[in-house]
Amino acid sequence: MWYEMADKKQWKRYVGYALFLFLSYSIGNAAAVVSTMTLQPEKVEKEMKTVAITFDDGPNPEYTPKLLDGLEKRGVKATFFLLGEEVKQYPDVVRRMHDDGHLIGVHSYKHVNFKEVGTACTLQQIEKTQKAIYDVTGEYAGYIRPPYGCWQKELDAQVNLIEVLWNVDPRDWATTDADTVVQRVLKDTKPGDIILLHDASASSVQAAFTVIDTLQKQGYSFVTVEELLLE
Ligand SMILES: [Zn+2]
Repeated sequence: MWYEMADKKQWKRYVGYALFLFLSYSIGNAAAVVSTMTLQPEKVEKEMKTVAITFDDGPNPEYTPKLLDGLEKRGVKATFFLLGEEVKQYPDVVRRMHDDGHLIGVHSYKHVNFKEVGTACTLQQIEKTQKAIYDVTGEYAGYIRPPYGCWQKELDAQVNLIEVLWNVDPRDWATTDADTVVQRVLKDTKPGDIILLHDASASSVQAAFTVIDTLQKQGYSFVTVEELLLE
């Protein structure tokens, strides 16, 4: 009988070992699952969710400074496609825009449609705007957004600028209702997009702030068009 007792003790020991191994394995697995679940979303947000917010037709003496205040408060760098004629009129606004670290690009001198005015006039519009920007910031722009998105292919060989269009257009210039603009932007925006707005009205500026606050809460970070294209 003594060997039967010994066997029983042995058997209990085996069950004890098995239970120990099973529990260790389960706890290890659970820890691995938890750490994967907590690490992954942060990683995706940081690497993937960038967006560029852009403003055309400025500088505007009334609304651009308000916009710059709000962008500074939110730590956001934006991209501005400027009208040369307005740069000449409101150089202080452009100087602050540049000093605040925003990216400045060319729109045109007098908001003309490049397809309608012909090559010679287009080149003159771009050159005059570049000079106006240089006189204020000490730098020439590297990017252009043609008014109405109308570019001519043959200009590529003559203009040393990168053309930037957009993915999200809420037509903010056609409404005074900021909520409408916000809804249109939020409905369409996805990571990597370029949002088009105009710093020319109170509703557009208010919409920009709400869009930024909402997307930042969703894990988006705002970069300039240059940073977005380089990614
Ligand atoms: Zn425009």
